[in-house]
Amino acid sequence: MLIAAVLHRFSRILLAPRCLACGEPGHGGLDLCEACRVQLPWNQHACRQCGIGLATVGQSHCGACRLDPPPFTQSFCPLHYRFPIDRLLPRFKFHGDLAAGELLATLMQWPMDPGDLPQALVPVPLHQSRLRTRGYDQALELARALARGTRVPLLANALVRRRATHPQTELGATERKRNMRDAFALRPRASLPPHIALVDDVMTTGATLAECARVLLSGGVQRVDAWTIARA
Ligand SMILES: [Zn+2]
Ligand SMILES: [Zn+2]
Repeated sequence: MLIAAVLHRFSRILLAPRCLACGEPGHGGLDLCEACRVQLPWNQHACRQCGIGLATVGQSHCGACRLDPPPFTQSFCPLHYRFPIDRLLPRFKFHGDLAAGELLATLMQWPMDPGDLPQALVPVPLHQSRLRTRGYDQALELARALARGTRVPLLANALVRRRATHPQTELGATERKRNMRDAFALRPRASLPPHIALVDDVMTTGATLAECARVLLSGGVQRVDAWTIARA
């Protein structure tokens, strides 16, 4: 992965940036063209706690969060999973395209409130068996890029995945919760600051992030936020 990152930096010096969503010339030094940039599906009216898009402007929380709030305090999922994010994210997640990851991390930081940053970023860990087959941990790579951009320290190994779980996409909401139970643990002697943001690529039901947040809170963390590129 390091070699890929170095090659990418070199290619950026030698070649003009290209849009990773459509192949047209990039704009403003980004691997994204102007036409794709204006189509970015910003998740502007979102529930503060779970990030779901809200129909009523001015509401702060969705009905589900008022009834049964997740264990994280705030969600930051600035984009919807629509074009061009549905092109960029699979490139990053399944094809190890670090340039797409860097671009997504850059886009994530545009609407970020610098006055409300956590004290550390913790990526949702991938199980070793999946890391071996994929060769690549997208949550860690995203967290790395965000840590560089925001200067928030990265705690890459604060959480460990105790067992491999079924891919969440194959499961319904209840099964997702059951699938996640006891899947994560704190690394022994991990030193955790009071305010942490968990980092993952996409939030679907939020079951994985909720389970990770519970583990961090039980380890003495006072506030856990959830940061993902998009809300599916
Ligand atoms: Zn484009
Ligand atoms: Zn909500």
